[in-house]
Amino acid sequence: MIPYGRHDINQADIDAVVNVLQSDWLTQGPMVPRFELAIAQKVGAKHVVAVNSATSALHIACLALNLGPGDWLWTSPNTFVASANCGLYCGAKVDFVDIDPSTYNMSVETLTKKLEQAEQLGVLPKVVVPVHFAGQSCDMARIHALSQRYGFKVIEDASHAIGGMYRNELIGNCRYSDITVFSFHPVKIITSGEGGVVLTNDSCLAEKMAMLRSHGITRDTNHFSRPTQGSWYYEQQLLGYNYRMTDIQAALGISQLDRLDEFVVRRNQIAARYNELLAGQPMRLPVVLEEGYSSFHLYVVRLHLDKIKGSHREVFEGLRAAGIGVNLHYIPVHQQPFYQKLGFKGDECPNAEQYYAEAISLPMFPALTEQQQVNVASCLAGILRA
Ligand SMILES: *Cc1c(COP(=O)(O)O)cnc(C)c1O
Repeated sequence: MIPYGRHDINQADIDAVVNVLQSDWLTQGPMVPRFELAIAQKVGAKHVVAVNSATSALHIACLALNLGPGDWLWTSPNTFVASANCGLYCGAKVDFVDIDPSTYNMSVETLTKKLEQAEQLGVLPKVVVPVHFAGQSCDMARIHALSQRYGFKVIEDASHAIGGMYRNELIGNCRYSDITVFSFHPVKIITSGEGGVVLTNDSCLAEKMAMLRSHGITRDTNHFSRPTQGSWYYEQQLLGYNYRMTDIQAALGISQLDRLDEFVVRRNQIAARYNELLAGQPMRLPVVLEEGYSSFHLYVVRLHLDKIKGSHREVFEGLRAAGIGVNLHYIPVHQQPFYQKLGFKGDECPNAEQYYAEAISLPMFPALTEQQQVNVASCLAGILRA
């Protein structure tokens, strides 16, 4: 089976991990701060805090922005459940802003209308989480302008998008947001096994998130609320968690970061080749906007169901049966049973629902070969003709 995504580990990655295993520190050693600095320098953010997953990153980002009971978090329905769950972890309520039918990102027009209505009802969101779907940035300048007008905070869920660009700058510099999150799960652009980071240009938010990552504890004498009682002394000032990244993970992350540009270039080549191979087929190919450069975490096609005989499901299962590990990103979050129990009917975001009925993610990872791409395209074309 050709998988839909796959990590790419070389000898340098392996050596980096082995070096840590032979060192004095498996966790809380020198590698995590080194990884944080490397990411900060790469994407141009002032502060980076590494954690054990992007899910943890989203959670501490929400906490740092004081999201809590009585507040609203809005995100895209076309995302992994973690982008919404982080709001629920904090006791906030969650709502969804439907997607743009061509980029599959949160629609800024829909967001604008929803904000106008929410203002009248007095239920504006405290936090909005745009998700850079498949590695293409949302329209951050306009979302930022809305955040100024309506007073909400912005967390970019850039789990798909490290290495991508918006208006000629790398995603992650937080020019248009309070906090950005990257994921280093093996299926994402670069990996640390499991892992994630929060990025911010605000030193207070960074400090708070660094504490939340490790039980709410600080060892920084400048931040103690009382005089120190000795060199052993530390203070727990917040209710935090153990969301720490290990040095083993950070070492892998540092090594993988060296290959980020190479990976993203390769992903763009693969996307361009799929575009050639699939041109003229009854499907919509990915649209990349002028102002962006996608990291192409995913390559999603959207079937024109009125122009083919089989159903979406038949095409999907046909590909799987032929050894092509296609996937579907995403089941709209508001249609998950857990969210339906919270009161969503499942028909609140028609564009995301229509998209879900037509989308298929084709295999996309740096080591995918020309021959495999040709096979995927001809197999898909064959199924659509049948
Ligand atoms: C993968 C992913 C996450 C969660 O990342 P983890 O590191 O696995 O916790 C969150 N949001 C989106 C959009 C993702 O794709």
